[in-house]
Amino acid sequence: MPAAFFGHGSPMNAIEDNRYTRAWAAFGAAIPRPRAILVISAHWYINATALTAMAWPRTIHDFYGFPPELFAVDYPAPGDPALAAEVADVVKPTWVGLDDDSWGIDHGTWSVLVHAFPQADIPVVQLAVNGVKDFDYHLELGRRLAPLRDSGVLIVGSGNVVHNLGRMDPRQIDEGTDWAHRFDEDACAAMTSAAPGSVIDLQGHPDFAMAVPTPDHFIPLLYLAGLAEAAGRRADVLIDGYAYGSLSMTAYTLDR
Ligand code: ZN
Repeated sequence: MPAAFFGHGSPMNAIEDNRYTRAWAAFGAAIPRPRAILVISAHWYINATALTAMAWPRTIHDFYGFPPELFAVDYPAPGDPALAAEVADVVKPTWVGLDDDSWGIDHGTWSVLVHAFPQADIPVVQLAVNGVKDFDYHLELGRRLAPLRDSGVLIVGSGNVVHNLGRMDPRQIDEGTDWAHRFDEDACAAMTSAAPGSVIDLQGHPDFAMAVPTPDHFIPLLYLAGLAEAAGRRADVLIDGYAYGSLSMTAYTLDR
């Protein structure tokens, strides 16, 4: 089964039709039907490693200041408690908590899946981003998830390689500033190289503090880097671009 990382950008992408959402839809249409989807979303950023394990995860509208149409979006995909248990097992000795009632499907996940899998009939499990852990932990956890791909699980990271909300410029709708370009291009060079795990070295990049002021949107990329390392293959660019000067929308696939 392929794997992917999507730059999800603004929640509005959930209800828009643009080159990114069409690329996400084309990806979903082109791959074999997964038995389940495991998503590492920037928006479940907590101080623990956890999996959603409820049978029917709720659609979470974890944002404010957006139009009612966005709050009306529902993504009624089932959960997959058996897969959550399987993931907890495959990543041992890393301990993973099973969440039965707190989280669900957040907009980092559904803003992409409404396009990629509009039927919402494939079970979805989310893996939280543990904000207490360093980048090596996430890269390694990504590597450990690799066996799930062999049994039809689609693993998806959802974040943004460059994500600085404080530097957004509404006049630069489809553009990136110079530092956003430099950082995103160097991330791309690493992801598409023979050593995708080297993307972790971007922590020392001169533009890191500007591109990654908080690690939540960057870390999901490390999971795809770990999967690519485990497979011994390079990631491919699905689509790239920028939004509001300070976001990169680059998406990567593995074995598509
Ligand atoms: Zn986001």
